[in-house]
Amino acid sequence: MSSMIGLKSKFLLFFLLILVVPFSLFMAFSLRRAEEAARRDFRRRLEYAGSLFRASLADQMNSLRSRAKTLADFDFYTATKDGFDASATLPLLQDRLPRLGLDYLALIGDSSRILIAEGSPPGENLDRIIPSICHSPLSKNLFVLNKEPWILAAAEITKLRQGGKLHVVAAWRLPRDFADPLKPLTGAEFSLLYANRRILTTKMDVYMKRMVDTIPESPDATTGETVVLGRKHLFVREEALPGQISETIRLEITLPESEFINLGSSLHRDLLLFGGIGILLALATGSLLYMNVGTPITQLAEITTRVASGDFSIDLTSDRSDEIGLLYRNFTAMVRSLKEEQEQKNRRMYELNTLFEISNAVNYITDADELLKFLLSHAVEVLGAERGSIMLLDDQTDELVIRVGYGGRYRLLSSTPIKLGYGICGLVAKEGKGRICNAGFRDADFKNFGSILPVEDIRTLLCSPLKFKEGTIGVINIVNKRDGLEFGEADLALLNLIATQAAVTIENTKLYQLSITDGLTRLFVHRYFMARLSEEILRARRYGLKLALIMIDIDNFKQFNDLYGHQVGDQVLQRVALTIRETIRVGVDIPCRYGGEEMAIILPETRSDEAFFTAERIREAIAAQTISHPLGNLRITCSLGVASYPADAHDRDSLVMAADKAMYVSKQQGKNRTTAAGQA
Ligand code: GH3
Ligand code: MG
Ligand code: MG
Repeated sequence: MSSMIGLKSKFLLFFLLILVVPFSLFMAFSLRRAEEAARRDFRRRLEYAGSLFRASLADQMNSLRSRAKTLADFDFYTATKDGFDASATLPLLQDRLPRLGLDYLALIGDSSRILIAEGSPPGENLDRIIPSICHSPLSKNLFVLNKEPWILAAAEITKLRQGGKLHVVAAWRLPRDFADPLKPLTGAEFSLLYANRRILTTKMDVYMKRMVDTIPESPDATTGETVVLGRKHLFVREEALPGQISETIRLEITLPESEFINLGSSLHRDLLLFGGIGILLALATGSLLYMNVGTPITQLAEITTRVASGDFSIDLTSDRSDEIGLLYRNFTAMVRSLKEEQEQKNRRMYELNTLFEISNAVNYITDADELLKFLLSHAVEVLGAERGSIMLLDDQTDELVIRVGYGGRYRLLSSTPIKLGYGICGLVAKEGKGRICNAGFRDADFKNFGSILPVEDIRTLLCSPLKFKEGTIGVINIVNKRDGLEFGEADLALLNLIATQAAVTIENTKLYQLSITDGLTRLFVHRYFMARLSEEILRARRYGLKLALIMIDIDNFKQFNDLYGHQVGDQVLQRVALTIRETIRVGVDIPCRYGGEEMAIILPETRSDEAFFTAERIREAIAAQTISHPLGNLRITCSLGVASYPADAHDRDSLVMAADKAMYVSKQQGKNRTTAAGQA
């Protein structure tokens, strides 16, 4: 997850890309266009202001020139046509000077010599200027004199009879408010003429307050920005008059930042503000959307990961009425059914495993009771019950008798036989059909069979018949499903399977028992004897144990047969076999019919002398018996031989031979006796 871009980041990124970025770009482009338009407008206005200024200056010059020309052509021509006379022309000068609104008026003679002059002298270096204005174009006649801007105009007095040229020079100081009319026309805040850092013109209000030092040292820049009284102004600057004679005079026109520019910067601010708000909104919307959609989806994603890894223990509830809520509920339902399916599968696996274990156990557990107990215990566990029992049907009495029990307090159960068709298990055995009895002792068919446990202890009951071929040979009972649950059809189906296996086991055991049991004597057959003897010798050899063998042969049996008939002979054989069975250790010693009227007993873990005593006990028991017969009470005796491993023999056949030999010694020595191989 860490390497992935999470939904949260994606949502934010999405909103930034979709909303904020295009909006900001749009704003930025618009702003730029607005600024460009504002600058173009500004430049136009500056150009207009400049041209107005120049036109106005030209007007001033033209007006001055025409006055100079009028003076030269009329007044001074008349006064000086017969030769210059200072006393005659001076009053004229004095008269004309105020009348024409001039500041300076002079009559200039040859070699630019000032003949007479009136008015405030424009400057000390007038001598240098006079020649140039007399012969230069009018447009250039703006000079800085006495640190003030002066316009000078010269006109030659023509038509003079006498030789020598006379010029009239008129001058006036450019009024300081000269550029003021530009303001309403162009919006120019102020315009000024200056030389070096000296301001020559204008009385414009703002200008008056303008600090001289805002004028740059180096006036190279033709356009730029300057701050006047804290307000940004744009200016254009051009050379008004090159400094040929006096200082270079520059014209600077300044406009306050136009509304457009202001608009631009306010738009800039707005852009920043709205950009910021946009980002905040994007964050908020993204977060909100993430909380509403992303969080549940992330949660769902995490849960699907858990589910994918097999963890179905999810707790996903949502009371939302939208699609997310629906998704949650559907997903929960899906996982629940998956969980159930999984549980069913697990249960099925467990059941199959149990069945597999059971069928395996059939192969290695040879003892029938042990096998039945194994089957029963597995049935109880796999069905999640408290206890259980297997009852077998007695063919003779038609009664069910408990064969094995498992779990809880089963040993306390009564072993009272149950009649076929009586109670739940009796009915199951009779009908050959399993039953689920979740009412337990409350079931109408339930009968108390004298259990010393309270009947209330049977809360739920599951009962299945043990069927072999067409017949029922018993029932398997499973009692009390744990955690107060009830048995279901699946439980019964499983128990039926186990019951089938149990029935087969019981039948197989019966068949096997039949195959190794001699029909007449109920002793083990010769084949079984030989196999068991081999096994027991191997075991004794492996564990260093002793092993004894007793051989028994009935004395004069041939005669017996001949005298009383074979049927009585068979009875004798049965009686002898019974006596043997009753005398030996049950479940330890192995009594066999060796052949004819000869019998053998394998005594595992038994010394020779112990076997000898056993043999003697058998012999005496047989000899003590009488068999009633119409011809009189019959008595029988046996001759016995005892041999032991490893004292008398090292293998099966030689052990049999040794016992047989010892038995023959008994015969030879007069019968009804026991001989040990060692003594023979
Ligand atoms: P001994 O004291 O020397 O053993 O004499 P015996 O007569 O018992 O001689 P032997 O052991 O050779 O006789 C075996 C007889 O047992 C032969 C046979 O008629 C009889 N027999 C063997 N199997 C059976 C059986 O299943 N039923 C009956 N009734 N008789 C049998
Ligand atoms: Mg014999
Ligand atoms: Mg005999």
